[in-house]
Amino acid sequence: MQKLSGKSVYKGIVLGPVLVLKKKEQTIKRVGTADPEAEIKRLEKAVELTALQLQRLYEKAVGEVGEASAAIFEVHRMMLEDEDYRNAIYNMIRTETVNAEYAVAVTGDNFSEMFADMDDEYMKARAADVKDISNRLVCNLTGEEETNPTSTEPSVIVAEDLSPSETVQMDKEKILGFVTVCGSTNSHTAILARMMNIPALVGVPIDLDEIHTGMEAVVDGFRGEVILEPSDEIRARTEERIREEKEKTLLLQTLKGKETVTSDGRNVHLYANIGSAGDVGYVLENDAEGIGLFRSEFLYLGRDDFPTEEEQFAAYRQVVQTMAGKKVIIRTLDIGADKQADYFNLGEEENPAMGYRAIRICLKQPEIFKTQLRALLRAAAFGNLSVMYPMITSVEEVEQISSIVEEVQKELEEQQTPYKMPEQGIMIETPAAVMISDELARRVDFFSIGTNDLTQYTLAVDRQNGRLDDFYNPHHGAILKMIRMVVENAHKAGKWVGICGELGADTELTETFVNMGVDELSVVPSVILKLRKIIREM
Ligand code: PEP
Ligand code: MG
Repeated sequence: MQKLSGKSVYKGIVLGPVLVLKKKEQTIKRVGTADPEAEIKRLEKAVELTALQLQRLYEKAVGEVGEASAAIFEVHRMMLEDEDYRNAIYNMIRTETVNAEYAVAVTGDNFSEMFADMDDEYMKARAADVKDISNRLVCNLTGEEETNPTSTEPSVIVAEDLSPSETVQMDKEKILGFVTVCGSTNSHTAILARMMNIPALVGVPIDLDEIHTGMEAVVDGFRGEVILEPSDEIRARTEERIREEKEKTLLLQTLKGKETVTSDGRNVHLYANIGSAGDVGYVLENDAEGIGLFRSEFLYLGRDDFPTEEEQFAAYRQVVQTMAGKKVIIRTLDIGADKQADYFNLGEEENPAMGYRAIRICLKQPEIFKTQLRALLRAAAFGNLSVMYPMITSVEEVEQISSIVEEVQKELEEQQTPYKMPEQGIMIETPAAVMISDELARRVDFFSIGTNDLTQYTLAVDRQNGRLDDFYNPHHGAILKMIRMVVENAHKAGKWVGICGELGADTELTETFVNMGVDELSVVPSVILKLRKIIREM
């Protein structure tokens, strides 16, 4: 038995088998071989297995996401069969007498760089595909294919770190918990874990070479502990605690269908935050009154090319239709910083959180923005959809957005494409937006305060940096004063204001927010009923 501590991201407790996820790049070594032909035989076997996996993935994807999205696996299969790619690998094994894994990894990198340097946008985007295919081949050569979490029983994922795009690709049904060596409690991976109600710990000093897939672990998000190979006594106690937690959750269920209103009649809207259309199940399950933040950028992650207008339209429409008249606030693309997709070619930046991201990309590359806006305006015709713009710092940005939205509206009119103009609001998540919130309030329909970034920018603390978790204090007087100021300015202009950052779910502050006059709290679905209980008892 081994007990390790870390920082808890979601308070829950689970017991189950471990699945160790190692970064493939870390394990590829150059090893000389005396028998290159035997390496080539190994490679051919791995190619066969890879082709079979891709075929299965294609079939699974057609059923789950449709033919257009599944086509990527067909593209991968074609790349696998590409003669130039295969010959380059054979050649390296023979001329340099090296192991197949190494030849595949180096060839993958070379081809990927070659694609990335091309002018043609389509070919550029193929860089990530070659990398993906090469990684898959290397896994099959090393026999690591079972590390794909989508092909195993529900497990506790243990990894060095997890990026949002890796997390978003996982099959949520198969994840019991997360344990990572790195990572901060404010990262988007942490937010995803909370979203999925998954007990998760970051900053756990675990040696991945000392543990193995299949060993048993307890992840205790209440105490911030992971216990490997628990004793019978700990296992029994954990099972008891899991039962108790289930009972508490069941008790909260009695609040479903009840109003979120204080005893003196003040009504607060309790909405949920989601990252994909698939999360709507959690929203309904927890009886949220709407969706206050749909992080649309997750549609752009974990893939090799931009989602088309039709793909986006289908996802947005599905969410508004499923919510059946309840409010759905979709935030436009907030890519950049920790949310990276290779095909955007954003390049390296010294300070990505303060870099080319979110609305800045949308205003500089309006063709990307317009595709999303068209999808949003079209989907708005199917339900109660609102649009919200992230990372606003100035009145000029709001004006530029308005003129792009007008252009899109005009185009849809001319093409006689059905659409509806949605309610439009902005996120208040920069100190600049707070300070000019009086001017901004006159120009938009609502505000939603993004306390995650507002804390990062106000306190000058990188939310991704785990070492700074102790300095990242959203309860800081400056943040609370800013929230009060934004609420007052919104109300003076007759506009409503909500909080969609993680602070909105902080039960220690619920009364404070309600007393400040916050009209809406948008939180991870699992917190909805807890907040309803507090507000009804106020
Ligand atoms: C925020 O910054 O508070 C927010 C809700 O947006 P995100 O966490 O996605 O940056
Ligand atoms: Mg933000």
